[in-house]
Amino acid sequence: MWNFETDPEFQQKLDWIERFVRSEIEPLDYLFPKDETYNTGNPALMAIMTPLKAAVQAQGLWACHLPPSMGGGGWGQLKLALMNELLGRSFFAPTIFGTAAPDTGNAEILAHFGTPAQQARYLKPLMAGEIVSCFSMTEPQGGADPKVFTCRAEPTAEGWVLRGEKWFASNARWAEFLIVMAVTDTSAAIHHGATMFIVPTHTPGVEFVRNTGMAFEHPEHGAHAYLRFNDVQLTRDNLLGEAGAAFKIAQTRLGGGRVHHAMRTVGLARRAFDAICERAQSRYTQGSRLADKQLVQDTIAELWMQLEQFRLLVLQTAWKIDRHNDYKLVRGDIAAVKVLSERVMVEMASKAIHLHGALGVSNEMLFGEWLLWGHALGLADGPSEVHKLMLAKQLLRAQSPNAGIFPSQHIPSGAALGAAKYAAALRLPGHRRGWVTPAV
Ligand SMILES: Cc1cc2nc3c(=O)[nH]c(=O)nc-3n(C[C@H](O)[C@H](O)[C@H](O)COP(=O)(O)OP(=O)(O)OC[C@H]3O[C@@H](n4cnc5c(N)ncnc54)[C@H](O)[C@@H]3O)c2cc1C
Repeated sequence: MWNFETDPEFQQKLDWIERFVRSEIEPLDYLFPKDETYNTGNPALMAIMTPLKAAVQAQGLWACHLPPSMGGGGWGQLKLALMNELLGRSFFAPTIFGTAAPDTGNAEILAHFGTPAQQARYLKPLMAGEIVSCFSMTEPQGGADPKVFTCRAEPTAEGWVLRGEKWFASNARWAEFLIVMAVTDTSAAIHHGATMFIVPTHTPGVEFVRNTGMAFEHPEHGAHAYLRFNDVQLTRDNLLGEAGAAFKIAQTRLGGGRVHHAMRTVGLARRAFDAICERAQSRYTQGSRLADKQLVQDTIAELWMQLEQFRLLVLQTAWKIDRHNDYKLVRGDIAAVKVLSERVMVEMASKAIHLHGALGVSNEMLFGEWLLWGHALGLADGPSEVHKLMLAKQLLRAQSPNAGIFPSQHIPSGAALGAAKYAAALRLPGHRRGWVTPAV
């Protein structure tokens, strides 16, 4: 059964979300740097966001990624995709709807692997939006290849002592706690020798070397911490899940995180597309509007096709997750939408910049931020190359080599098989390819 329609009751919720995001939340994009959305210590922003969060909760739309048992709506991934593409229009909307990364993924692993005491201390306030959290895996010497990780938690009589460095730990400066992956067993392969720890940010020995920012950001706005752990003492209370299970735990959060980024990217890319169309309709140059010029029309048609292809793949991936209820079975699809998120966002933001002329590259538009974000989408949660490799390997595993010396699409070989199958009909006159074998 194929159906591309939204049921009217759910459409009403989507309509409310769209109106709310556009009128109440998008203004924040022009007022605050985007990573401030995680800064629970910003009084002006909190004065705006707290009542907005309450309005979302009153609509029953808070934390819509979670099942009802965890306080969410239990909508499933397909409906979540339709919601997230509206929330993706603004960097502030996911926080106001209780669905912001990396807190969503961190909540997921705390729910799966946390002890009741850890859930009471960290998960409950996290899901209520009272605190933010940080996931810290990447190290300065490399993120795409965990085999180069050296941050080490050495066993002691009381637990472990954590030493080493982490890099690009998003929101650590505002986080109540860090989820840190550390090597605990150097004799095992990293996939079995690393362990996850919950480290409250103010634990003695946690050093912020600096808060790195994105290009063009004021150094004080950096939200991606360079961290150093100087003999941080950890006990069993800090252990998340089992020792040696860090990769299994990380996979639990990354599948969902990647596909949710893709859902939101549909929304931000559409906002850029709308800006492109508005510009084309408004700007008059060399005798006509941009909208009247065929080269611009070509650009707009191409961008729309890219965006809609991407959106359909995101929706199908979400549908498959609901259907199979197992991220492992949808890994290839998730990899594909992850790679496309970068491509579509970079392309859309680049064209938005270009069609706005000098204004487009200026600091008076959001496009530069969106372009950089597009590139970030190709790195965060693993570079596009790694995801393409995974997808290609999966696709190739499903295909066997050709049985004989010639490929299965070889005309003479195919004609021989076809001739055997339809020998009687081929004795009748009729135009055909010249490869039918003498036996016919
Ligand atoms: C905005 C943002 C937020 C982030 N937040 C976090 C966070 O909260 N926590 C965290 O732990 N990390 C975070 N990261 C880090 C992210 O996970 C890493 O950037 C990513 O894993 C890549 O690691 P790297 O930056 O060290 O690049 P490298 O591993 O050095 O890779 C550099 C480049 O090498 C190429 N490459 C890598 N592997 C291959 C391959 N097999 N074949 C061909 N080319 C390849 C790719 O072009 C890749 O981009 C964040 C990154 C960004 C951009």
